[in-house]
Amino acid sequence: METSVKFNNRLEYDTMGFLYLSLPIQLIGQLLGAFLLSAMEFTVVDTETVGVWLLLNIVMFLYRFYHYQLFKKVPETEKHRHVTLWLHRYYTNVLISGIIWGSSAFLLFPDKALLNQFILLLFLFAIGFTSMGVLATKKDLLLAYVSVMYGPILWRLFSIGDNFYTLLGYAIMALVLIMLLISNYYGKTIEKALIEKLYFVDLKTSHEKLKERFFSLFDRAPVGIYYYDDAMRIEDVNQSFLTMNKLHDKKEFVGVSLNDIVESSNFIDVHQKVFDGKTGHYKGPFELQHMKDYHNTLYVDISTVPMFNNNHEIAGGVTIVNDITAEVTAKEKILRNAYFDLLTNIPNRTFLLDKLQTIIDSKKITHNYAALLFLDINNFKKINNTYGHDIGDKVIKKVVYRIDEVLGGKETFARVGGDKFVILISRVGKTEEESKQYVLEYVDKLHQTFSNALDVFGKAHYISFSVGSVIFSQTDDSAFDIFKKSETAMYEAKVSSNNRVQFYENKMSEKITEELLLENGIPRAARNDEFTIYYQPQLDVETGKIIGAEALIRWNHPEKGLVMPTEFIPLAEESGKIIQIGDWVFKKVFKDAHEIIEGMNGFPLKHIAINVSTVHFMDPHFIENLLLLVQEYNVDPHWFELEITESGIMRNIHDAAEKIRKLKSFGFTFSIDDFGTGHSSLAYLKELPVDVIKIDQSFIRQMNADDEKLVEVIASIGKKFNMDVLAEGVETESALRYLKTIKCNTYQGFYSYEPLIFDEFVSIAKSAG
Ligand code: C2E
Ligand code: CA
Ligand code: CA
Repeated sequence: METSVKFNNRLEYDTMGFLYLSLPIQLIGQLLGAFLLSAMEFTVVDTETVGVWLLLNIVMFLYRFYHYQLFKKVPETEKHRHVTLWLHRYYTNVLISGIIWGSSAFLLFPDKALLNQFILLLFLFAIGFTSMGVLATKKDLLLAYVSVMYGPILWRLFSIGDNFYTLLGYAIMALVLIMLLISNYYGKTIEKALIEKLYFVDLKTSHEKLKERFFSLFDRAPVGIYYYDDAMRIEDVNQSFLTMNKLHDKKEFVGVSLNDIVESSNFIDVHQKVFDGKTGHYKGPFELQHMKDYHNTLYVDISTVPMFNNNHEIAGGVTIVNDITAEVTAKEKILRNAYFDLLTNIPNRTFLLDKLQTIIDSKKITHNYAALLFLDINNFKKINNTYGHDIGDKVIKKVVYRIDEVLGGKETFARVGGDKFVILISRVGKTEEESKQYVLEYVDKLHQTFSNALDVFGKAHYISFSVGSVIFSQTDDSAFDIFKKSETAMYEAKVSSNNRVQFYENKMSEKITEELLLENGIPRAARNDEFTIYYQPQLDVETGKIIGAEALIRWNHPEKGLVMPTEFIPLAEESGKIIQIGDWVFKKVFKDAHEIIEGMNGFPLKHIAINVSTVHFMDPHFIENLLLLVQEYNVDPHWFELEITESGIMRNIHDAAEKIRKLKSFGFTFSIDDFGTGHSSLAYLKELPVDVIKIDQSFIRQMNADDEKLVEVIASIGKKFNMDVLAEGVETESALRYLKTIKCNTYQGFYSYEPLIFDEFVSIAKSAG
């Protein structure tokens, strides 16, 4: 509705423009006509009348010309607002002009001169015709004009009453009618032209708007767009496309063939699909091959659709380009992180296991042997602890670099843990013998490369490896099984100090499963009292009297029978379960202490010695937990001596000394177990406030001359620091005799007593006491 109102307004406006623009010609024509007519009628009509009529015409001419000038000067917006006013002005003027010309029927029509009468009629028709043309669009106005123009002359002619003039009147009426018809047709044509012009303008503006919209969409679209022609040449590209390619100039693309841009046949095929009227999709790398020294690979997701020309034929295609580089690289990175070690960039454990599985699968067909080597850097912890983790990381990188050089990229080389690496060699030989030989030589080569020191912060550092290996061909083992086996072999290499390579053997696995079984059984054993304590008497060297006992744990295993502590204590220490065991031992010994007191009327011994693992002793809650147990079991700490080993304690001697002092303040006494097996024992001895030194049994059991000297020195130092000295592992009378000569106070050993079950110990202690 609104648009049609607007449309009518614009039509009026255009009509107005049309009327005023044709005004000068009309006015000049009319004025000229007026002069000519006046000149011709001058002789037959009254001069003054002619003068007045001509003057009226001139005045009207000037008035209308003034309006024309005014119209030209007024700004468009004003005209727009006053379209009706201007039209009314125009129409009024036309009517006035019509009246002036019409009046000529009375003023300039001579009574007699027939020729002059006809001249007037001719002029009336000529002038009328020019005006009717422009009034043609306004029917009512046209009628009004015709009335004022021809009404007077008709009236004049009919009023003469002569047949000739009456007939002339009718002829004029007929002519005017014809003129009206023609004008009407004219009017319609003009109106149609104006309307069509308006429609055309409308169409043009809407088309331009569309074009503009399209271009702004094209250029400012957040996706890349390019078109190409039927020769696969790029016709245009938009700003986003340039930006994503980090380029500024369309010239880099316009006219370039798609074949030269991306070297992938798939990419071209996709673009060619549009010529079959189909859309094409491509997802992949997008490299601008046509530009030298340009290295900006994008990953794109593109869709291409046909583009039609005016004849509705396919003229090329439009491609929409989505830059998915960030997404793809992120995915790639995730994938990389999943399969590669971040520090060294070599494959990780996951990658290795995948690869191992493919090789296992391939052996079902090929039947030759492959080898897995498990490498662990010896004493790497020391490097980390001394230099810090950053240096440790650098060492790892250097190690990887060196091994990589040996391998030359031929085998899979993976980092599977901090200082643990695996090399997978897919073919080592046809027979087991041949394969082992191959691996031995291979490992020798590896060891060789590390015979030169690594430079660690300017210091030469020698690196060595423990290597375990599994050789396999057709097997039912999974990748994980083989990996685990190689690791087991590596651990075996460490303990057996095999400095070439340890090949995996089945018994290694059995050992490990056995250990696992034991370790996992510890919590249950503590709950169900599967543990038990034996007591080995400690005696005075001089008098042979029992002065105390060492509590030694055993495990009554439901399946394995009696298990000795050497079998499970190290496992428990490694897993931390030693704390559960230690607690169990305290409780049991505390209970036993009460029974001894009941059975023997008081506590007849100097002490009962309890072994405390370093792991347990160094636990931050050790003291408070022990004191809680003392309270719970209502025992006197003076009854107990805690045995700690020097090796663990030396690492944190100040902390240990502090704990010892604190516990001593509650009444506990302390002994250093296995004394002499560490290296720094003597130097640190004076720092540790212990009461007893226990000389390790290795010096006593089969004593030679060197041992004798050492034992003598230890005994004298002990005395110097006011400590008791106890010799462990006294198996012979001669050993005991020797102890007497060097004034070593106390001892324990099979020569007198083996560890005894509680009841036995109590009865012996009773009879001896
Ligand atoms: P250890 O503390 O050095 O204990 C002495 C070991 O020497 C005991 O072995 C004992 O039976 C053995 N022994 C004593 N006299 C002789 C001898 O004349 N000749 C020989 N050949 N051996 C002798 P056991 O009971 O097998 O204990 C082994 C180790 O297990 C102990 O060495 C100790 O380190 C650990 N252990 C034992 N009980 C416990 C415990 O309750 N807690 C902790 N943390 N460790 C314990
Ligand atoms: Ca001991
Ligand atoms: Ca010992």
